[in-house]
Amino acid sequence: MNQNFRAERGYALELDRLDPLATFRDLFVIEDPDLIYMDGNSLGRLPLAALERVNSVVSNEWGNVLIRSWNQGWWEAPARIGEKIATLVGASTGQIIVCDSVSVNLFKLTMAALTLRSKRSKIITDSLNFPSDLYVLQGCVDLLGNKHAITRIGSLDDDVTPDLDSLYDAIDEDTAFVTLSHVLFKSGYLYDMAAITQKTHQMGALVIWDLCHSVGALPIELDACQVDFALGCTYKYLNGGPGSPAFIYSNKNLHENFSSPIWGWWGQRSPFSFDLDYVPNPGMQRFLTGSQPILSMLSLEAALDPLMQAGIQNLREKSMQLSEYFIKLSDSILTPLGFRLGSPRNSSLRGSHISLRHPEGYRINRVLIDKLNVIPDFREPDNIRYGLAPIYTSFTDVWEAVERTRQAVANKIYEEIPQDRLIVT
Ligand SMILES: *Cc1c(COP(=O)(O)O)cnc(C)c1O
Repeated sequence: MNQNFRAERGYALELDRLDPLATFRDLFVIEDPDLIYMDGNSLGRLPLAALERVNSVVSNEWGNVLIRSWNQGWWEAPARIGEKIATLVGASTGQIIVCDSVSVNLFKLTMAALTLRSKRSKIITDSLNFPSDLYVLQGCVDLLGNKHAITRIGSLDDDVTPDLDSLYDAIDEDTAFVTLSHVLFKSGYLYDMAAITQKTHQMGALVIWDLCHSVGALPIELDACQVDFALGCTYKYLNGGPGSPAFIYSNKNLHENFSSPIWGWWGQRSPFSFDLDYVPNPGMQRFLTGSQPILSMLSLEAALDPLMQAGIQNLREKSMQLSEYFIKLSDSILTPLGFRLGSPRNSSLRGSHISLRHPEGYRINRVLIDKLNVIPDFREPDNIRYGLAPIYTSFTDVWEAVERTRQAVANKIYEEIPQDRLIVT
């Protein structure tokens, strides 16, 4: 791309013609070809296969087969779909289960990690982590009588890259576990999972990696990095649909030593014996609580096929090309208009979205959505996030997103938008 780069639209069309993954876009519902969707890192597009699956689950499996469906594939769905996700995150069999939300699952893993390191009092995370993760940690500390302390590295003002020196310094022999988002939700910074996990283990502590912004966009090697616990959501790059259930990874080596803090019947060794006492399932099913959202779960199952077919390494390569192209265009077209890059410039330190910062970021994002048919999203105080989901985002989408952002600012169209924030930004 480097030698031939041109800022004209024709160059984007050329890149699309050369893109070996270009046809995967046809596997998604795209009703408005003029809509430039840049928010696959918040809610992935609808795969045609998921639409068909939901239709048949509702009309046939629910409508006709009814309760019998539990014995025809519903009951095993959390573990079966976990095995599909395992192929995307470098996990061997029996270590992933699909259930509940990320926040609920982080509660389970936090309590498990604190049980496994009961003599240690420190929990380490960073200020750029997703707030829900921080809230869950605070809630656990409160629930346990404030015997633990959360060390939050850095501050909100470290806008792009976290304070790595402080992170490494903070991990010590009183640390129970370290939990970080693999890719940061604002800047897209990508942590070095292998190095941080290794340092954590040297100090005898555990790690919990939150994969929400990396799973489905880049290769992850949970087993090879000897990660203890991980979790992630499935409605972002995995395209599972709004509120589709999250997943938990727990390393096999740890399975014998703890149970999940919510003892529900789905986590019991044999739910249909209706025993009066809880005995945990020896496998990942111990993390289940109660009945799972089967419609969402089966739409997720269908959504995973195109990603597995495309191959996670190929998706990563395209994602890097898309984001490098985005940055080149933005440097030449948007920087002169007052934007600055809010993401790492080096692709190997970045996930699959780009943040651009501008003092009028909120109103520019709104005008893009309301008037220019581009959908990015906005994160305080001034970040516009452009999600580049390699399975369906084209180079022409990138060109259009940058060009329409230029129009929003060059013509000051954003001045028509009020400053008050909507609930979901
Ligand atoms: C999206 C996201 C979540 C979402 O949590 P839910 O409880 O599933 O809504 C959590 N953590 C991170 C880092 C995220 O990006």
